Amino acid sequence: MSEIAEAVAGGRLPGRLWMYANYHCNLACTYCLTESAPQVPRRELGPTRMVEIAREASELGFTDLGVTGGEPFLLMWLPQTLAEMATHLPVLVLTNGTLFSPKRLARLEPIRGSSVAMQISLDRPDPDANDEMRGAENFAKVVDAIPRLVDLGIRVRIATTVESIEDAELDRLCALHRQLGVPDEDHVIRPIVRRGRAVDYRLGVDAQRDDLPAELTITTDGAYWSPFGPTVHSGVVGTDLLITRTTSPLSVPANALLRLVEARPPGDDMTLNIR
Ligand code: SF4
Repeated sequence: MSEIAEAVAGGRLPGRLWMYANYHCNLACTYCLTESAPQVPRRELGPTRMVEIAREASELGFTDLGVTGGEPFLLMWLPQTLAEMATHLPVLVLTNGTLFSPKRLARLEPIRGSSVAMQISLDRPDPDANDEMRGAENFAKVVDAIPRLVDLGIRVRIATTVESIEDAELDRLCALHRQLGVPDEDHVIRPIVRRGRAVDYRLGVDAQRDDLPAELTITTDGAYWSPFGPTVHSGVVGTDLLITRTTSPLSVPANALLRLVEARPPGDDMTLNIR
């Protein structure tokens, strides 16, 4: 068993490895960690590299994969790539859920029946409140897409990212996700993290390295401590949570992360429920 596999099995290192597929997005949310928008540099990892990382992650002993962006489903090659990655490890792909027109739904055929799940952002139970930070018609598109995805047999999780939410509003949001076919165990609520565009809007909580799970994150710019690491502010990719620019072979950043985790004082770990 590799050192990484032992650390994951022993609970000393999170089992999930993340990849930033791209940085561009069809939306431009006010709390976006990566300042994503349609015209930003794409920084695509590419299909060959993503499948290669999935294979290496499996061999090293990671247990599952996360894919984020930007909006990954802007990449036409993504469904086939996700299906190939899922032959190595289960994949969770984060999406804003607004691109799933009937034509795009048909393109999801490669991931039907695979171990690819989607995590879709839905912050509020009402269109106006939800769309305030995410853009017009976001709510309508998401609530239309979720049951269609569920009908395709794709597991859907809902992520609610908020500064705060009152109990009554949360109750209505939970009633809505159940109605859309998403059970309670697939609904996550997380705080806005003050990085990226959220800094400019003074939103969210400050998070330091040890507030964040040490989930190895691979981008075109290098390997990071967490998916909250390779964020963008004023057009510049952050380096405060950069581990190394070397990402191949994957054992280099994986072992570097493990060394950092093991050097942490006991009890000095995440407190902000950021996931
Ligand atoms: S938060 Fe997500 S959906 Fe919104 S702009 Fe950023 S990447 Fe796009």
